[in-house]
Amino acid sequence: MQTNTSSLQFDVKPNANPMPEAERLEAFKNLGFGTLFSDHMAIIRWSKGKGWHSAEIKAREAFAMDPAASVLHYAQAIFEGMKAYRTADGRAVLFRPDENARRFNDSARRLALPELPEADFLAAVEQLVRTDAKWIPSGEGSLYLRPFMFASESFLGVRPSTEVIFSVIASPVGPYFKGGAKPVNIWVSEKYTRAAPGGTGDVKCAGNYAASLVAQAEAYANGCDQVVFLDAAEHRWVEELGGMNVFFVMDDGSIVTPPLGGSILPGITRKSLIELAREQGLNVREEPYAFDQWQADVASGRLKEAFACGTAAVVAAIGSVKFSTGEFVINNRENGPVTTRLREALTSIQRGATNDSHGWVRELAGI
Ligand SMILES: *Cc1c(COP(=O)(O)O)cnc(C)c1O
Repeated sequence: MQTNTSSLQFDVKPNANPMPEAERLEAFKNLGFGTLFSDHMAIIRWSKGKGWHSAEIKAREAFAMDPAASVLHYAQAIFEGMKAYRTADGRAVLFRPDENARRFNDSARRLALPELPEADFLAAVEQLVRTDAKWIPSGEGSLYLRPFMFASESFLGVRPSTEVIFSVIASPVGPYFKGGAKPVNIWVSEKYTRAAPGGTGDVKCAGNYAASLVAQAEAYANGCDQVVFLDAAEHRWVEELGGMNVFFVMDDGSIVTPPLGGSILPGITRKSLIELAREQGLNVREEPYAFDQWQADVASGRLKEAFACGTAAVVAAIGSVKFSTGEFVINNRENGPVTTRLREALTSIQRGATNDSHGWVRELAGI
C-alpha cells in the first residue's frame, strides 16, 4: 500500500540501561512538558558528498560537538513538533505526520539545510515510537516527538554547513498549561516583533524562538502566560503567539484567523481546525485582524471568544489580554462553547475516539 517507503536501513541498538518500569510509571503520574525523555533517539547524518546515511536508533545520549560547530554560531537549525497518542482501545497513532514531514522540508529549504525525503522523516519518527512505545502515556497524556536538524560542521565561515545531523527525541507530556484547560492570559508585545516579511516567521527555525524569549519574559513579568505578536511593519495586525496560531469567534458564529502571508507559521492544528469549523457549518474567514479592532469588538460584545492553537497545547482559550496601557477580559472563567466544541472535535480525532473521516490519523500497527 505504501508507495513512499524509506530506503534507509535503521541500525537499532537497544538502550542497555532503560528507565526501570516502576520509575517510568511513577514519573507518568506527574507529567510536565518536555522535562522527561524516553530511552532512545533517532539519528540520520548527512554530508555533502554522501547524502543521508548512518540511520540509527540508539540510547538517548549527548552529541559530541566541536566548539566550532556552525549551529552554535549561526543557528542553522530547524525543528518540528508532533505527538503520538495511545487511544482508548489501545492503538498507537500519529496525527497528520505527513504534514510535519512536508513542513520540515519547507523549513530546511529556507534555512539552506538539505531536504530529508518525507519517507525517511516518517520512518525515523515511526521507528522511534515503535522502539519507545511503552513511553506513550494513556489517558490525557501523549508522547511529544521532536524531530530536528542542525548544522554540525566545524567551520566559522558563513555558508551552509556541509554536514548536518537529523535527530528525533521523544518526551511523554501532560497538559501544556499548568492548571489544565483554563483560559490563558496573554500579553501583547508592542515593542518586539516575531517575524517580518521575507524573514523566517513561516518556518520552524530555532532562531524564531530565540527572538521571542525576551517578549515571553515580558509577558511573565506582567503576569501573563503567553505573548501575542503584532506585525512588524505597522505594529497593528495580530499575527500569532510565540508558538501558537490564533482564532477569534464573533457573535454571529463566524470565525476569523489571520491569513498566512509569510510571517505566520502555517500550523497543522490551525489548518485542521479551519476544516473542522467549516464542517460544523461555521463561516471561517482568513483575514487580517487589527489589535484596535479586537479591543473594540470585545467592548461592543461582537467578539465572544478567542483561542490559541498548536500541537503542544492543542486549543487554549484566551481569557484576558494585557498591554502596556491597559487590559481587557474576554472570559477568564471558562472556555467558550465554540472553543470547547472545536477542541473536542479535534482531540477526539487525535485520540482515535471519533471515526477519522479525513484520514488524518496514522496508526502504528502492532505496538
Ligand atoms: C509550531 C508553531 C505553531 C503551531 O503549529 P502546529 O503545527 O499546529 O503545531 C504556531 N506558531 C508557531 C510560531 C510555531 O512554531
